[in-house]
Amino acid sequence: MAPGLDFADLPSLSAAVHNCRRCPLGHSRTKAVPGVGPGDARIVIVGEAPGQNEDLQGEPFVGAAGKLLDQLLRGIGLSRGDVFITNILKCRPPGNRDPQPAEAEACSPYLEQQLRLIKPEVVLVLGRHALTRLLPGYESISRLHGKVVVQDGVSYIPIYHPAAALYNSFLMGPLEQDFKAVKAHLDRVEERRQALAAAVPVQKPEEQLTLFG
Ligand code: URA
Repeated sequence: MAPGLDFADLPSLSAAVHNCRRCPLGHSRTKAVPGVGPGDARIVIVGEAPGQNEDLQGEPFVGAAGKLLDQLLRGIGLSRGDVFITNILKCRPPGNRDPQPAEAEACSPYLEQQLRLIKPEVVLVLGRHALTRLLPGYESISRLHGKVVVQDGVSYIPIYHPAAALYNSFLMGPLEQDFKAVKAHLDRVEERRQALAAAVPVQKPEEQLTLFG
């Protein structure tokens, strides 16, 4: 861990992001975009990088892709207040170009620390840039979208990026299917939780003997 990048809580992490100059984007941005949402969210959503609207407002997914994301979340019974939303890059690349590997590398301690502090059950990985960063060595987004990858006890679900579906309407159907897969996974997790809560503990026969014999 780079010195000074081990945060006790999300507010101190956000403050560091607002002052960050670890890469040139720290000089060209209008506002840094650390991320928003509850610190105990069960679901973290990771996009690519802030765009123009996000750079002006300092909040992730506030433009057209964000509206689509809100709509897809509503479709599976969730709202923004239920999830923590962030990006691989916390500052806008000029002209919305792709993140460069060195920028993603410089920014990675922030996302690592956000995941460590929030401890989500599920991470939605939006698009190929987030996929490359969070699940290196896995298949392409077109093969992996909608599937669940469990890593260190956390379920990562890669899905198409909403912005990609806005540019390529043929991805809208697959993106909606991805959200159905997310809902199915969350339902399975909830069923397991309820089954565990309802389970009556049974003692081993030898423990019963020691107790009564
Ligand atoms: N807005 C964001 O905050 N991130 C994206 O990846 C796209 C739009």
